[in-house]
Amino acid sequence: MANSKYEYVRAFERDEVLLPNTWIVVRIDGRGFHKLSTHYHFTKPNDVRALNLMNLAASHVVASIPDITIAYGVSDEYSFVFHKTTNLFERRCAKLVTTVVSTFTAAYVALWPSTFEASGGGVGDGDGGGGGDALSLTMLPTFDGRAVCYPSWGNLRDYLSWRQVDCHINNLYNTTFWALVQQGGMSPTAAEEHLKGSVSSDKNEILWSKFGINYNDEPDMFRKGSVIFREYALEPSTGPKQEVGIEGADDEVGIEGADDESRGLQSPVTKTQAEKMKKIRRKAKVVTSHVDIIRDEFWLHRPWIRS
Ligand code: ATP
Ligand code: ATP
Ligand code: MG
Ligand code: MG
Ligand code: MG
Ligand code: MG
Ligand code: MG
Repeated sequence: MANSKYEYVRAFERDEVLLPNTWIVVRIDGRGFHKLSTHYHFTKPNDVRALNLMNLAASHVVASIPDITIAYGVSDEYSFVFHKTTNLFERRCAKLVTTVVSTFTAAYVALWPSTFEASGGGVGDGDGGGGGDALSLTMLPTFDGRAVCYPSWGNLRDYLSWRQVDCHINNLYNTTFWALVQQGGMSPTAAEEHLKGSVSSDKNEILWSKFGINYNDEPDMFRKGSVIFREYALEPSTGPKQEVGIEGADDEVGIEGADDESRGLQSPVTKTQAEKMKKIRRKAKVVTSHVDIIRDEFWLHRPWIRS
């Protein structure tokens, strides 16, 4: 664009650049989903369609941004982890957060009809007037987002564990609460009162003795949340690292990492290596699973998420 006398206003812009060499987590969360879930008649406590939709939208985000190495979701929230070496948008916070949140929201809205409207109908024609669960302009799903930097792998693991523990605690509570209301005929207030001060074992006991529900038999997606990552065809003999080509890359070495676009300060790799990694990431299958990410096992089997 040509220079103009107005161009000086650009100097007012301020960019927050996120700390180098840290794991960047962008967490998004549905705005007012308590109300939105009532409006669209979500099944309580866990509407499977709504969870599937969150997972599909998040999967789209991971697939379209190769720098995201893993994502974890529960309820109306999702955390996207950018590899610590990412240089996407020069690590500008606003760019990263807004791109994730709008990519997610766009996918969520685009995929809503196929997930929620079994009998067809389009975006915008749902007005709550009995026309199924089409999206209404007066109750559109929107999300907020934030970015947090975690300086060590341990911090990142603790972050993800924190979210998964939260999922467990909330789901145990919600499962018990809604069993008391839906099957036990209690009012929400009475159920809340009943559960006040109760610990995990109390809730397990209520579920089992009153409703014959073994909490451990509840679906994994409800109890553990959803994990999205790239899965590679694992050769049991060679292991994933060689398959992925991170450690075994045989490109020439010795080129300074300074002019490298995709890797950060502490792990200089060649441009060809970086390009190769990007290509591999882009082609890899993005999978969604409902597994424990607190213990080491998940991570030991998938070293490429960290490397
Ligand atoms: P805020 O805008 O502050 O995030 P919120 O109403 O979205 O407010 P959250 O703490 O984010 O509050 O909680 C999300 C709420 O959305 C849950 O409490 C639950 O009522 C509802 N919800 C989200 N996902 C589902 C689902 N899959 N099935 C049923 N209800 C859901
Ligand atoms: P970035 O991701 O960096 O923003 P960009 O390709 O979006 O890259 P912009 O500087 O934002 O680049 O410019 C937007 C471009 O989109 C315009 O240069 C123009 O080519 C195209 N564009 C936007 N709106 C229209 C429109 N209404 N009609 C035709 N072209 C458009
Ligand atoms: Mg523009
Ligand atoms: Mg919020
Ligand atoms: Mg919310
Ligand atoms: Mg939430
Ligand atoms: Mg643009």
